Amino acid sequence: MRSSSTSSAAGARPAAVSTRVDRNTCDILTILSPLREALSKLSATPPNPEFLRRAIALAVQNVETNSGGPFAAVIVRDGKIVGEGVNTVTAAHDPTAHGEVNAIRAACRALGTFTLAGCELYTSCQPCPMCLAASYWARLDAIYYGASAADAARAGFDDAFLYEEFRKDQPARSLPATQLLADEAWASFAAWLASPGRVDY
Ligand SMILES: [Zn+2]
Repeated sequence: MRSSSTSSAAGARPAAVSTRVDRNTCDILTILSPLREALSKLSATPPNPEFLRRAIALAVQNVETNSGGPFAAVIVRDGKIVGEGVNTVTAAHDPTAHGEVNAIRAACRALGTFTLAGCELYTSCQPCPMCLAASYWARLDAIYYGASAADAARAGFDDAFLYEEFRKDQPARSLPATQLLADEAWASFAAWLASPGRVDY
C-alpha cells in the first residue's frame, strides 16, 4: 500500500536508478546464495546412527540369505527412510547393482523423481567410486558410512585400483577406451539441443 502510493507520488523513477537497484539486488542475491547454502548445511539435521544400523542389519541379512555381497544402504529424507537397497550383483546378474545404487533407484522410484537433493545416504560401507559418482549424480546432501574402504579391502573388496586407474591418463589404463565416429556421435547432442521437449537434469 505504502510503496504504491509513494511510487505514484514520486512518478516514474529514472531508468538509471532502477537499473542500479536491480543490479544491487542481484549482487546481494549473489552474495547471499552461498551463504544460504552454508547455513542450510549447518542447520541440516545431524546424522542419526539408527539409519546406519538399519543399513548394517540389511547388509548382514543379505549375506545370511545368500542374496549378494555384504553391503546395503538406505536413503533418508526429513528423518524418514524413503528407499533401501542391498547388493544384488550376483542374484540379479548385474555388476552395477551395489547397495547404494539400488537404494538410490528405490528412493527415486518411491519419490517419483530423478534428484535426491534434500536426502542423505546411509551406507554400511564407504562407497566405491561408482556409488560415489552415483551419489553426486543423485544430488544427495550427505553420505554417512560405517565400514571404511580399508575394511572392505580386508574382506576382499578392494576398490583402490579404481582410484589408481582414474588418476592415470587414458592410454595407460588397463581398460582400453578408443574414440570412434566423433562427428557422427554429435548427432545425439544436436538432437538434444534442438529438442523442445527435453527435460534438463
Ligand atoms: Zn559401489
